[in-house]
Amino acid sequence: MHDVVIVGAGPVGLFLACELGLAGCSVLVLEREPEPGSPWKTEPLGMRGLSATSLEAFNRRGILQALLTASGDSGAPAANPDADEASPPRWAGHFAGMMLDPAKVDVAALPFRLPSPAPEVLLTHLEAVESVLAEQAAKLGVDVRRGVTVSAIAENDEGVVARAGADAYEARWLVGCDGGRSTVRRLAGFDFVGTEPQFTGYTMQATVADPEKLRSGFNPTPMGMYMRMPSEGHVGMMDFDGGAFDRSQQPTRDHLQAVLRRVSGTDVTLSDVRLASSFTDRAMQATTYRRGRVLLAGDAAHIHSPLGGQGLNTGIGDAMNLGWKLAATVHGHAPDGLLDTYTGERHPIGAAVLDWSRAQVAAMRPDPHGQAMQGVVRDLIATRDGTTYVFARLSGSWVRYDLGSAHPLVGRNAPDLRLEDGTRLGDLMRDGRGVALDFSTDQSLRGAAMGWESRIRYAAGPARNDLGLGAVLVRPDGTVAWAGDRRPDREAFERAVGRWFGDPDIS
Ligand SMILES: Cc1cc2nc3c(=O)[nH]c(=O)nc-3n(C[C@H](O)[C@H](O)[C@H](O)COP(=O)(O)OP(=O)(O)OC[C@H]3O[C@@H](n4cnc5c(N)ncnc54)[C@H](O)[C@@H]3O)c2cc1C
Repeated sequence: MHDVVIVGAGPVGLFLACELGLAGCSVLVLEREPEPGSPWKTEPLGMRGLSATSLEAFNRRGILQALLTASGDSGAPAANPDADEASPPRWAGHFAGMMLDPAKVDVAALPFRLPSPAPEVLLTHLEAVESVLAEQAAKLGVDVRRGVTVSAIAENDEGVVARAGADAYEARWLVGCDGGRSTVRRLAGFDFVGTEPQFTGYTMQATVADPEKLRSGFNPTPMGMYMRMPSEGHVGMMDFDGGAFDRSQQPTRDHLQAVLRRVSGTDVTLSDVRLASSFTDRAMQATTYRRGRVLLAGDAAHIHSPLGGQGLNTGIGDAMNLGWKLAATVHGHAPDGLLDTYTGERHPIGAAVLDWSRAQVAAMRPDPHGQAMQGVVRDLIATRDGTTYVFARLSGSWVRYDLGSAHPLVGRNAPDLRLEDGTRLGDLMRDGRGVALDFSTDQSLRGAAMGWESRIRYAAGPARNDLGLGAVLVRPDGTVAWAGDRRPDREAFERAVGRWFGDPDIS
């Protein structure tokens, strides 16, 4: 019996498998597709934007460089990671197709930002992300079996059995990372609730006979939006048809051309369509991410329109949050209720992402209300505060879990703090343990961290830039669990250690 079966070897399933493998769990991944490659995963249609927070997660596990290399020329290098202060971003994203001006981002207003080897954003593709994660998973001893379609699951007191045809796979826990149409979600009886679509979106690789008729980039129009991407023939569009297009059909050239003409208000001609698919802005979320021994992560737990590129980033956040908690539960040292903090922390983030995508749809609606909303948003993002607010949402830096502390850093993704000797927090997190960073002159937390060495790495020394902190306790997922001032309170530190890491190995 394995500790954990993961259904789905998409980016989220593979990321979670790596987290669990790193923490010493035996992991089996079952994937329906016999082969990892597909034209949907390569450029241009497989292109995905990863946020600074997701890239920091790759950095913390030592696979950022591999991802940058696999992403090729599209990888934006990090701004100088050795600088003392974070520099302004070079690309700031968009809201409902309205581009942000990076020069308007007020870097000083973004909380606790420090330079890191992780770039602000990376335009990569699914094949690059999945191949890097699959290689890492193999190194960590994860068993990935392809061509296995899970069609039934049964749970008992000891574990879960996943069935695929005549084969049965047993594990103590099962995680559905099987995408937006998740079989696991349905079989395990999760409620999936939300809002129905207003538009059908299309993404295609086509030959446009008269490309000069289309503007490049994102183009909100009175009829919806179309996007002409930099790569040759990559066109996207959103048609406010109430989601009426029958998505079980492959969209034809004639249909795509008619929609593109209507949305763009031109008589553009598609002479050839090589690949095309459709999506909608249906926004749904599981009401809980755990039922008994079955959990959900990624698109299996939440779906929404791809506007603003948040789905994969949210899924990677789920995997980081769940991995160490499930591993601690498997190993029997999780404090009471730890696993349920997964839903408690990630569900509100998923709900906020769904609302973010709904707000963009509202601002794109081709009616007087939508047009009016677009005008308001344009005015707001012309301001420094407006741009900074939207940028924080896109970069992931807005995420803060409510961990019950008034300290403004607690619950946030930790900045890449550095000791004077050059050691970075990201380097200290490679083995998946939590980190206690102690900047105090008398290293007052050293004794308090003893006994948790298998779960917490203690590092001490003067800081290169301590942001006014005396010490921090960082969970394995990179979240700040506790922050102390220049004379850290040892008892408060010990309480935080007990809350997140349970009892010491030796008492
Ligand atoms: C056009 C478009 C652009 C996007 N752009 C961005 C972006 O820029 N940034 C971003 O963050 N997100 C973006 N997204 C969203 C992102 O692609 C998804 O959120 C992400 O791929 C979800 O990953 P996942 O691993 O949860 O699910 P998936 O990638 O769907 O993987 C699920 C896996 O489970 C397997 N599976 C399914 N059922 C079974 C079964 N019964 N048994 C075994 N295996 C099964 C599937 O074969 C698949 O491999 C975009 C989406 C679209 C459509």
